[in-house]
Amino acid sequence: MASAPETRIAFVRGQFVPRDTATIPLMDRGFLFGDGVYEVTAVIERRFVDNGPHLDRLDRSLREIGIANPYGRAEWVGIECELMRRNALDNGLIYIQVTRGVAERDFLFPPDLAPSVVLFAQNRRVQHNPLIEKGAAVITLPDQRWARCDIKSTSLLAQVLAKRAAAQANANEVWMTRDGYITEGASSTAFIVTPDGRLVTRTLSPAILPGVTRRTIMRIADQAGLALAERPFTRDEALGAAEAFYTSASTIAIPVTRIDGRIVANGRPGPVFRSLYDQYMQHVLENPQDF
Ligand code: PLP
Repeated sequence: MASAPETRIAFVRGQFVPRDTATIPLMDRGFLFGDGVYEVTAVIERRFVDNGPHLDRLDRSLREIGIANPYGRAEWVGIECELMRRNALDNGLIYIQVTRGVAERDFLFPPDLAPSVVLFAQNRRVQHNPLIEKGAAVITLPDQRWARCDIKSTSLLAQVLAKRAAAQANANEVWMTRDGYITEGASSTAFIVTPDGRLVTRTLSPAILPGVTRRTIMRIADQAGLALAERPFTRDEALGAAEAFYTSASTIAIPVTRIDGRIVANGRPGPVFRSLYDQYMQHVLENPQDF
């Protein structure tokens, strides 16, 4: 009998192992405290999407919480490439998590712990999401996260509960609000296009994650000559927008056609979204790999 391809191999604390039987120590601080950070990078047609900026952000998140990055850039890319190879990953996601490591349970961590590194791959098609044609429904809810949303922390309870609320409302995403303004999606960056054609997304600050997809979308929009504005916007402004969409590594970009049950513009994905999405795909498939 032919052996099954190695479709489920993870990298766990220094070794490639079968994903579904892999274990981490009970005393890992990631498990006990959510004391760690993560990244998600898309792979489309065997190409990493914006891998360099994702590894840059991982480095920044680690620095912000005082964990020394355990690997150099070439080592990270080497592990990712090997993971792709072992999982025959043509299209999907690479998940990276770094926690502070294993120690007797205590809020205060001992100095010089060896960080725990975990990577796994998920086979799925990031492109051709049916929501691209159909449009997504978003609900708005208060942002219940902590004050350092710029760190890609594995402590995601507020987003887990937000996603459950979205599912209960038959919606695809939550746009979270704080002080009357939308901060971002539960797992995405929020964008609108104003009636006069300006692309608007919130200014970077500790209130939001600096989205890698956000950055590339802004660059593409700028190169295409679109007027850009980085500023907060309200739910009411989004409801009156010409277009709305959200971006993330795992979706690239998804048009929003309903907010809190109300139709946005004509209820169909708009031309600015379509054009930016197509240019993003072109950027992925034609540009040299950026590590
Ligand atoms: N904002 C939040 C809270 C997220 O969790 C994510 C992605 O998971 C994003 C924004 C989008 O970031 P990126 O485009 O880097 O995936």
